[in-house]
Amino acid sequence: MSEINPKWQRDTLPIGGEWITPSSSERITVISPSTGQPVGSVPDSSPDDVHRAVAAAKAAFHSDAWSSLDGAGRADLLDRFAEEMMKREDDLVEAVTIASGIPSSSTRYETLPLLLAALAKFAQMARDEVVEQDRESALPLPVSARVRRVPLGVVAIIIPWNIPLLGAVTKLSEAWAAGCTTVFKPAPETPFDALIVAEIAEAAGFPAGVLNVVTGGVTSSQALVDNPDVNAVNFTGSTATGRLIAQASAKHLRPCILELGGNAASLVLDDAPMDEVVPGLVRMALALNNGEACIAQTRVLVTEKRKEELVAGLAAAVTGIGVGDPFEPTTMVGPLISEKHRARVEDLIASATAEGARLVAGGSRPEGLGEGYYLEPTVFADVTNDMRIAREEIFGPVVTLITVADEDEAIRIANDTEYGLSHSVWSSDTEHGMEVARKLNAGSVWLNGSMVLDPNVPFGGWKASGYGRDGGLEGFHSYQQTQALFQLADMS
Ligand code: NAD
Repeated sequence: MSEINPKWQRDTLPIGGEWITPSSSERITVISPSTGQPVGSVPDSSPDDVHRAVAAAKAAFHSDAWSSLDGAGRADLLDRFAEEMMKREDDLVEAVTIASGIPSSSTRYETLPLLLAALAKFAQMARDEVVEQDRESALPLPVSARVRRVPLGVVAIIIPWNIPLLGAVTKLSEAWAAGCTTVFKPAPETPFDALIVAEIAEAAGFPAGVLNVVTGGVTSSQALVDNPDVNAVNFTGSTATGRLIAQASAKHLRPCILELGGNAASLVLDDAPMDEVVPGLVRMALALNNGEACIAQTRVLVTEKRKEELVAGLAAAVTGIGVGDPFEPTTMVGPLISEKHRARVEDLIASATAEGARLVAGGSRPEGLGEGYYLEPTVFADVTNDMRIAREEIFGPVVTLITVADEDEAIRIANDTEYGLSHSVWSSDTEHGMEVARKLNAGSVWLNGSMVLDPNVPFGGWKASGYGRDGGLEGFHSYQQTQALFQLADMS
């Protein structure tokens, strides 16, 4: 599945309702993480292409075809998008798998159902939208006021390689539901599904220019965030890049939503149901997205009382994790995205050993998978929270166990990170588990379960994990601004 396939040689960009030839001949070669070999290439959009895309999105925003649609009209488009998306299921699964190494079964059985739920939920939000609402005056004056919600305009959406299709469709559809038009820049490593998403939008009957896609890297991304006609930016990626996006957004005094890095803790309380904890951690820390997940629960906090039981459980469980070709339906962990990224994770593994952590399982490249960027699922015990592997976002199939004296120390250590995206708690006492959850400084906390991303619930970070929210009415409203309409009664 990794030879150059003409289907993954794309020469044009969907801008303004046409597939245009880019202004530059620069290309981005996409490498298969499974083999290390090129599988195709796409245009490396120039700033001119990006500006053309923004102009198209701006024209679309003001066009009758888009601006005359009410929430119900936009919802109908989202419904049609969902139908067309499922017609392209196989293409989407292949596009994501070949470029990202994320197991195809995950895209097919987890991502696509989640996207259908998101499209349905955002369509419902658009249908139920209250565009204008009376607001009672707080003044002792004969004033009647109405608050009106107005879409922001052109939204730039920029995502990383670890959430290709998921990030694309959830963010685009929420922006569309709220009435915005979009310029989407996928990560250079995973551009194929983005071009299929544009074909789906076209087949669903979206007006020209509502979705424009520019494939490219840092240069095109910078041109996009520097364009003064972009009214809002929704960025997901590293904290370092997030800071740059925030600076560019400040220059233009425009809102941005920043979904940045994470370094989650999983608190295994003394009464935790270990038969659920072990498979839960296999999924939440090791297998999800090959461990390349901002919400991976990598710092497991456990007291001496349950520690060895957990160590033994995880050591046994990792032997059952299928590592290999992401196209194989039984694969749970595929390759990491690139040689450079695997070297970074291996460096963190080496640092943990050097700093005195105990390697329980994994830590090496799997046998028989010489090509590609594979890494064994890895378990460390006796990690301390000052070790590099506990301070930095690992972004690979690695879980670390940190021994704590008690629950209070677990809470303190969980919060002792610059990030605040997510944490999790395991306890047989759900009421108490929820009390612990409330003491954790993060945008999402899961109790006794796998990571649920719910389109009806806001998702986003605290601290260096960013600000702003995707999902829920909070996300929907972040694509809109308000206008206050006052009517003063005749006071003569
Ligand atoms: P990255 O910041 O390097 O790149 C992300 C995107 O930004 C890419 O499309 C890239 O082309 C673009 N980009 C890079 N430099 C830029 C610049 N100077 N100006 C404008 N755009 C630029 O991120 P990455 O390392 O590829 O992705 C992994 C990171 O994403 C991790 O830190 C992970 O935690 C984070 N992430 C966060 C969430 C979340 O929801 N909080 C979800 C997934 C991933």
